[in-house]
Amino acid sequence: MRFQRKLFLLTIIMIVISFLKWQTMSFSSASSSLECDPYAIASSGLTREYSDNVVNLQPEEPIDALIVFIEFEDRKAVEADRKKMLKVSRKVTEFYAQMSEGEIEFNWLNYQSAVRLHKDTISYNANFRGSIGVAQIIVDVQKRLREEFDVSELEFILVVVPSTTLRNEIANSIAYLDRGQGIINSAILASDFWKSGDWTVVAHEIGHAFGLLDLYSLDAAQLLSEGKATYFDQFVFMKSYDLMNWPGSSSPSLVMWNRFQLVPTLSHRIACFKKELKHYELISVNSIKPGIKAVLIPLSNFRVLMIEARDNFGVDASTGGSDVGVITYVVNLLSESGKGPIRIDCSKAMNSKYAECGLKTGHSRLIEGVRVTRERSSKLEIRISVVREK
Ligand SMILES: [Zn+2]
Repeated sequence: MRFQRKLFLLTIIMIVISFLKWQTMSFSSASSSLECDPYAIASSGLTREYSDNVVNLQPEEPIDALIVFIEFEDRKAVEADRKKMLKVSRKVTEFYAQMSEGEIEFNWLNYQSAVRLHKDTISYNANFRGSIGVAQIIVDVQKRLREEFDVSELEFILVVVPSTTLRNEIANSIAYLDRGQGIINSAILASDFWKSGDWTVVAHEIGHAFGLLDLYSLDAAQLLSEGKATYFDQFVFMKSYDLMNWPGSSSPSLVMWNRFQLVPTLSHRIACFKKELKHYELISVNSIKPGIKAVLIPLSNFRVLMIEARDNFGVDASTGGSDVGVITYVVNLLSESGKGPIRIDCSKAMNSKYAECGLKTGHSRLIEGVRVTRERSSKLEIRISVVREK
């Protein structure tokens, strides 16, 4: 009886979702109108690793995401974890709303009972990132869900393992993406990453489902696991400036380039540099006021320089003074995930844990023949100049 009622409720939810989707379908038309968008300019050969042959999450309509708790033969789901996960999902919603200027909305649904998998934790062999075992868990969960309702109505499924499992039993995995197998975008969360209420790793995994790449160094992460590198070494490419690099940093934000990858309509926030010398008035990336948030300077067919202003409010509220300012970074569209596709420029030593990459007023930096100077600042805007030096 209980099961039938659950099924009935779920069916009603699905019907409502389908109706809402049908209503909003004709209104979605997000496309990039940025004339210097390197993806738009390139004739061929530029595909992002996670978007190759993959259906990414789309920002145009509310994203229907299902939270599913799972249990194994040897490990039961913990009821108290549902409350924690609810809080985490709310923070994730807030985060993406801020990153997208209100364009990304999540509609979180809770699967009321735990999905029981008929194996024990160890037999899945899911103890490392991206393992076949992790993928198998996702496939098994979706198979079970499909017995009860049409999962294709969902855009995302968050698979939550019992909080009594350890990271070295069930690892965190990247969003497992639809490669034509009818598998819905999904991420599996190792319990270490959310049971204390931390939402940043959850947001990081969902970033992959949108097509964002890992910005931390996979090589350094590997060395760290062998005891041959320090914890910070993995985050050297983007320091504290992006959640796809360092989810645990004091500013779990996204650089403007990544925000533009999420929501192409943010192109109106980006200016294309063309002339020999140009002045810009930048507003902070977290501001909701009208204005330009970043300048894009093409360096080659597959590399661009981005300039933006970082401040300490919104999700960046606890950013230290050494991290704020005008930052510059190079995006390499041919670089793979985890190999440094985006790299920040810093005046100080790159291996310093503290960022100190933000240009202060009166300071300038030369990046591959382009001089960026922070001329002056007011409460509202930062005036910069960009010159291509011969
Ligand atoms: Zn990742």
